[in-house]
Amino acid sequence: MKLEERYRILVKGKVQGVGFRPTIYRYAKNLGLKGYVCNTGSGVLIEIEGEKNKIEYFIERIRKSPPSKAEIKEIDIRKIDIKNEKDFFILKSKKEETREVEISPDIATCEKCLRELFNQKNRRYLFPFINCTDCGPRFTIVKKVPYDRKNTTMDEFIMCDTCQKEYKDVYSRRFHAQPNCCFTCGPTLKLFDNKGKEVAENVDAIKKGSELIKMGKILGIKGIGGYHLACDAENEKAVKFLRERKKRYGKPFALMARNLKVIEKFCYINNFEKKLLKSWQTPIVLLKKKNEILPYEIAPENNYLGFFLPYTPVHHLLFHFGKNLNVLVMTSGNFSEEPIIYEDEIAFKRLSGICDFFLTHNRKIYINCDDSVLRIFNKKIYFIRRSRGFVPSPVEIPYTYNKIIFSAGSDMKNTFSFTKSKNVYLSQHIGDLETELSIESYKKSINLFKNILEVEPEIIVCDMHPGYFSSKIAEEIFPDREKIYVQHHHSHITSCMADNFLKNEKVIGVAFDGTGYGLDGKIWGGEFLICDYENFERIGHLRYFPLPGEISIKEVWRIGTVYLYMVFGEDFLNLDIDFVKKIDMKKWGIIKKMVDNNINTFLNSSFGRFFDAVSSILSIREKIDYEGQAAIELEMKIEKNKNLKPYEYKINKEKTGYIIEPEMILKGITDDLKKGLKTGEISYRFHITVSEIIKDMCKILREERDINKVALSGGVFQNMFLLNDTLKKLKKEKFDVLIHNKVPVNDGGISLGQAVIGIFKKN
Ligand code: ZN
Ligand code: ZN
Ligand code: FE
Repeated sequence: MKLEERYRILVKGKVQGVGFRPTIYRYAKNLGLKGYVCNTGSGVLIEIEGEKNKIEYFIERIRKSPPSKAEIKEIDIRKIDIKNEKDFFILKSKKEETREVEISPDIATCEKCLRELFNQKNRRYLFPFINCTDCGPRFTIVKKVPYDRKNTTMDEFIMCDTCQKEYKDVYSRRFHAQPNCCFTCGPTLKLFDNKGKEVAENVDAIKKGSELIKMGKILGIKGIGGYHLACDAENEKAVKFLRERKKRYGKPFALMARNLKVIEKFCYINNFEKKLLKSWQTPIVLLKKKNEILPYEIAPENNYLGFFLPYTPVHHLLFHFGKNLNVLVMTSGNFSEEPIIYEDEIAFKRLSGICDFFLTHNRKIYINCDDSVLRIFNKKIYFIRRSRGFVPSPVEIPYTYNKIIFSAGSDMKNTFSFTKSKNVYLSQHIGDLETELSIESYKKSINLFKNILEVEPEIIVCDMHPGYFSSKIAEEIFPDREKIYVQHHHSHITSCMADNFLKNEKVIGVAFDGTGYGLDGKIWGGEFLICDYENFERIGHLRYFPLPGEISIKEVWRIGTVYLYMVFGEDFLNLDIDFVKKIDMKKWGIIKKMVDNNINTFLNSSFGRFFDAVSSILSIREKIDYEGQAAIELEMKIEKNKNLKPYEYKINKEKTGYIIEPEMILKGITDDLKKGLKTGEISYRFHITVSEIIKDMCKILREERDINKVALSGGVFQNMFLLNDTLKKLKKEKFDVLIHNKVPVNDGGISLGQAVIGIFKKN
């Protein structure tokens, strides 16, 4: 008889809610090993008993082929006394308060399923809903916990005997795969025209669908978290059509490529980007353009393209049948900044003016979830939007709090959060809370999170903006809970601190964004704060300027005129630059009256708006079609020139703090324009001036307060040139700089910061 041994193995990392226990069970049973596996607060615990060489092989298998979504950080192995166990068991986890949510994000179709999908002998050959324990829809089909089929939108489909067998068989890849189904028992894919007439079904629907796309048609395709609008990205006419019909002119379209090779034709990709593109989260990754082969309309005036790879069987099948289809435009089926449309009825009603056809099916999406958008910066993820694939995974913070906090987020690019113990669960991207659809999605999502996290919040954290819908809805949903109102830019900086797992300490916060409500009732957005999780002081900011009416946010040239007026008085009209020549004098007359008499103007210290002004003065962008466009195009124009220096500028110390004066910068810019310097070089000078200001301000504050840590947050830091240049300068001065990595730098990350402020205000 061979000698038997017993080991206690603790696997740490992302190991819960990823199908770890069934995998362990299979491995143990296959090797005839005894013992048990269970979830604990610190990871997955295994006790394993049997022959030593088999146990070694068992551990090897865990290391080498864990479930695809698991990320093992550490395996701790200890020899213990033998217990003469009879069998191997999956022990039910005790309901610990540290238990992580068991709902996984949605997962891209796995390799094994893909092999089956294209294997003629497999019973799921070309089946558009193939999935397994390792892949398929999750978050978007769950209605409540526990995560069982009856609590998902798959409850409408009764598994056939064969599927049921797989579902019950621990050796099957589909053991407890809740969305498990096949041609016999699963949902049906259908192709409709935009009048609602059925054209084809299942495999034929996809065949026909890919043909139609190749012919230049626009299809509404139901995906995991909502409807995409798709067309052949290499067909200029189709892309233009889509732009016109969607009435979206400037904002780049996302592209889905057949494979990595195709992407490499158009963009530069490094290994980090490759890894992310191929990850089970399949986010949209922003990549530097190599050339201009694809139609200009895909991403006008942009040096980047947002690419992702197929992540559902339907996507794979579209490329399979569309042999000469290589890149699809796959843009969210929505209007402006609303959430992606996910309900069939609404899709048909609202998108039939855009789509020629709909490729859809009868598996309901319970909750909308947009694609995630990110880029790689300094070898790390830098989020633009954190959504599908990442939600509802939590962000861990360095504090364990025993009360549940709900933080309502911002009204722009909204996400909300719930805290639970040491975790903050950020919602999917909800969008701008401006329309009925987004508010509906906001409310429904809050409810869903309450359900899947099994929490009832005790403390509500809202932005102090008196007009925010997020705050109003939070007050309405949780009327008798304690409310805490926090400042927007304080939340940005604490979000960045929590993102970096920072314990409470004072940092220099640089919060540059478009808009946020200030303590003085004015609009902030170019702020230097000294803050920790509890409190903040506003130490400096960009000089206030009067924003002439809400309309200026779209018609940014109006901000340009006001800035020039502030610097030159009415003489600015004599400046010999293109921008001035194009000014509509009648409109200027009204703007001047507004500014002089303080009518419908808002004092504003936003750096985002300053970028808008400069973009317009350089005649790069006068009116915008999407948020941030003027600043983005200003960044895209940059032409580096080492001989150029930053503009001169002044920081004044006043009673209220340090004031950054834009005056000399604008004089420098208009002088350069008159001299005929290229706009790209002026843009470069402007950018290096802003990073210079940040560096100088940080040095002043370090001197004054003896703080060496700087946190950079707010939408302006989506500007990669600025971020990079600022980081370089701060590091050269030996600052310890925090930037975002786990949540977006824009308002999409704010609910994390709000949540942590909530914890500290209550502690
Ligand atoms: Zn699979
Ligand atoms: Zn079946
Ligand atoms: Fe903001």
